[in-house]
Parts: sequence; structure tokens; C-alpha cells
Amino acid sequence: MGQFEPPEGKLREEYGFFIDGKPDTPVDRERFETVDPSTEQPLVEISAGTEADVDRAVSSARQALDEWRATSATERGQVLFQIADAIRDHSEMLAVIEALESGKPYTQAVFSIKSCIDYFEYFAGLADKVQGDTIPMGWEYVDFTIREPMGVTAHITPWNFPTSIIGRSIAPALAFGNTVVHKPAEETSISALEVARLAVDAGLPPGVFNVVPGRGTEAGAALAGHRDIDSLTFTGSVETGREVARLAVDNVAAPHLELGGKSPHVIFPDADFDAAVPSILRGIFSANSGQSCTAGSRLLVHQDIHDELVDRVVAAASELTLGPPMDDPDMGPLVSAAQYERVTDYIEIGREEVGEPIIGGAPDRTGYYVEPTIFDGVSNDSRIAREEIFGPVLTVIEFSDESEALEIANDTDYGLAAGIFTSDVGRALRFARNIQAGSVFVNEYYAFGTQTPHGGFKQSGIGREKGLEAIRTYTQTKNVGINIEV
Ligand code: NAD
Repeated sequence: MGQFEPPEGKLREEYGFFIDGKPDTPVDRERFETVDPSTEQPLVEISAGTEADVDRAVSSARQALDEWRATSATERGQVLFQIADAIRDHSEMLAVIEALESGKPYTQAVFSIKSCIDYFEYFAGLADKVQGDTIPMGWEYVDFTIREPMGVTAHITPWNFPTSIIGRSIAPALAFGNTVVHKPAEETSISALEVARLAVDAGLPPGVFNVVPGRGTEAGAALAGHRDIDSLTFTGSVETGREVARLAVDNVAAPHLELGGKSPHVIFPDADFDAAVPSILRGIFSANSGQSCTAGSRLLVHQDIHDELVDRVVAAASELTLGPPMDDPDMGPLVSAAQYERVTDYIEIGREEVGEPIIGGAPDRTGYYVEPTIFDGVSNDSRIAREEIFGPVLTVIEFSDESEALEIANDTDYGLAAGIFTSDVGRALRFARNIQAGSVFVNEYYAFGTQTPHGGFKQSGIGREKGLEAIRTYTQTKNVGINIEV
């Protein structure tokens, strides 16, 4: 694929909000600029939402709630299927937007859009399968539960998989009868505005899905602390997660947190190296340049295979191509100057802690590019092994046996994901049983799908999204007890 010129009509110069079923852009709002991470040039300008804008969006969502929750679940599902179709019909536009905004290679952006469609279809099908229990309270009673929507759900999302996360977080909320106010990440607001517009064009009633872009500290904080939201789903860093959860809990709105990780990827001598090497690469480099919450950023390697495996990983990583998203390389630039600084600062910290990386660093070129970077001989106590870098930086840590591997793997504040490569089924299952992580991948890093629950142990979060577990996140249980002897 050659260098891409944005086709007419795919990107406007300015974007505002999407409130009450239509674009909404008060003229006097301050604007912030987004930047194309491959050129470092301005991309578009976006209105920065204020407390008043968030307030308008929340009241629109509140007004739309009664009608949407009273819409039959089957009908809600049908609307979600129509939204999925609309996203599919516009998937090229959405993929271009995600690629340009986030710097992600085009094929990976296509995958993010496909994953959003998959979520809408999965939850469309699930909408009318949400049911309660009958509870044996005694001969003279009939007792049953109803699962009702939470109400107005707030969603604050990050920039790494913007469209996919809309599907993961917002599609189930809509399917189960909630209304939504979404504050997307500053870097990737257009994806959210376009999906909301497509949803309304596809039949979603006005007010059910509102989007207010803006700064985290202003629009984000106003939404998290709004008195009239019923739940808050936050996907982002641990530090921000703590802050927004406190704001939500002040109003007794249920916080749901999908946070960061520092996930171990453990390779035993009986692993199939031909499968393990590409999986390691995908785990930390080629999938979104390591900007993934579940990235396998700590490679735990058995001492007997260390040299051979690391040589093979280095050789394969050196082949990965870097370039602008529409050239569709293996790795694009990092999303922003801030993220570039964060990652390159950690590379400096790594240099101080362990010495030169055996491969990688930041190339001298325009754009926020960082090469696949590997630090070998890392102690699990070092900062580069303990703190989430959120970029293409792999720390290699040796272990001598299964129990040491498990101890190192669990020796982290995080607990989002963990991978293991071994041909010993017992060892794989022991690892799965003993590891403190919300997702375990055996013999394929990122072995998960739309249907599988996702969420973190320890500091990596509270609650689960995806799969049937999303029903618990986006509904609340009402119990009805009836005395039938009166
Ligand atoms: P971030 O915490 O900086 O920002 C996330 C969102 O919060 C953005 O929309 C931002 O504008 C908003 N925000 C920032 N400060 C805020 C405040 N004070 N009040 C309210 N909102 C505020 O995270 P990021 O840099 O955008 O994303 C990277 C992080 O997200 C990483 O830690 C990554 O692991 C995590 N993440 C987790 C998952 C998951 O499923 N667990 C998925 C993707 C990313």
C-alpha cells in the first residue's frame, strides 16, 4: 500500500461533540489540536468539552433512558445489528481515521474496526437473552430476579484501540438498555464521534449515545464526578483509574476499571519455538507497537534456552518494519509526543539499570518512532520490569525452574494477563491455576476473543467486560418477593 492521501470527506478540519443525536459544537469552545504521529503535523481541531457540555450530554442520556430501556430487548438487539452493519459499510473510513489518529498500521486499524463490529453483533444477539432467576424462598412465596439496566452509563476510554473499545464497552451498555455518555481520549476522538453518528443514522434514538471529547482533567473529571450518572466504565492507567473511581464513588455510581498491566510471558524449554517467537513479537512489538494493556512486556525465559530463544527473538524483531500507518508496516509510530517521551525515558532508565539494550532505541527520524527494544539480563526488581512502559520495550528475565517462574510472574502489582509456552499440559494448567491474572494465554499470546471475559486482578482493575460477564457490569439485579398466601 502506498502513502495515503486522506480522501475528500473522510476527515474534516474541525470536530465538536455529539449530543442528543446530532453534532453539537458551541462556537465559543476552546479547541485542542490532534497531531498525526507519523508526521508530527497537526491533524484536526476538536472542541474541548466543559462541565456544561458534559452536563448537557448527561441530561440528554437521562431523558432518553425511559424510552430506550422500555424498548423490547429484541428490538434493541436489532438496532445494534443495524449499527454493526453501518460500521461495516464504513469500515474503510473508520480504519483510515483510527490509523491516522493513533499511528497504528492500516491492517491493524482494520482489525480494530472488525473487532468493534464483532462486539456489536455479539451483544446484539445477547440483548434478549438476559434473564433472571427464580429463588426457592419457601412454599408461600414466589421469588424472582430481574436484571435491569444500570441507567446512564459513563465511559472514559484510552487511545490505543479506540474503535474496538467502543464495541467492548458501549455496545453491551446499549444492548442491555442503558444510555451512554462517552469521553474518548484526546488523541482519538474522531473515531468515537463517527461511530455515534453512524449509530444514530442506523436507528439508535437521539440521546442514547452521546460523545463529549475533551481533556481528561476537565471533561473526563466532570463526567466521572457527575451526580446523575449511574455507572462509570474507565479504561486507562491505574493512576487515573484511582482518581475517577473516587469521583464516581462519591456519588455512589458503580466504578468499573480496566487498567494497565506488566504481563509475564513465560517460555519453557519444551516450547515450540516456531510458534513462540512470533507470539513474543506480537505480544510486545508488532501489535500496536506494544501499546496494549495486555502486552507481554516481561519475557521470562528458562536459563537452558535463554541464548537460543533470545537470539531468535532478536533476529525476528530486527526484521520488523517501521513506517507511517498507511504504508502498512509491522509497526507504526507511537501515538503522541507524550507517549514517545514516556517510552524513551524508560529506555534511558533501562540503560542506567541494565546497560545498553541488545536491540532497539529511538531512530533519528520525524514521527514518534521507537524500534523494537530488548533489555536482557533484567532483574524483576528493576523499574523497567515493574512499571508499565506501554511501548515496544521487552525485558528479558531468566528463571531456573517452574516455581521460580511462577514466583517472578506473580511478583508484580499488576494482574491483567499472562502467557505461557510449554508442551506439558500439566505445567500449563498449574500455571493457569496459580497465576494472578485475569487472562491466561497458553501457547499463543493474545488467545482471547469477543466472547471471553476480560479484566484485571490486583491493580489491573475491578470487574469484567466482554462475554457474558458484561451482563453483570451493565445491569443491576432487582429481587421481587411475593407472598402468594395472602
Ligand atoms: P490515561 O489514564 O491517561 O487516560 C485514559 C482516559 O482518561 C482518557 O480519555 C483521558 O482523557 C482520561 N483522563 C485523564 N485524566 C483524567 C482525569 N483526571 N479525570 C477523568 N478522566 C481523565 O490512559 P492512556 O494513556 O489514555 O491509556 C493508556 C493506559 O490505559 C495504560 O495504562 C493501559 O494499560 C490502559 N489500558 C487498559 C485497558 C484494559 O482493558 N485494561 C485497555 C487499554 C488501555
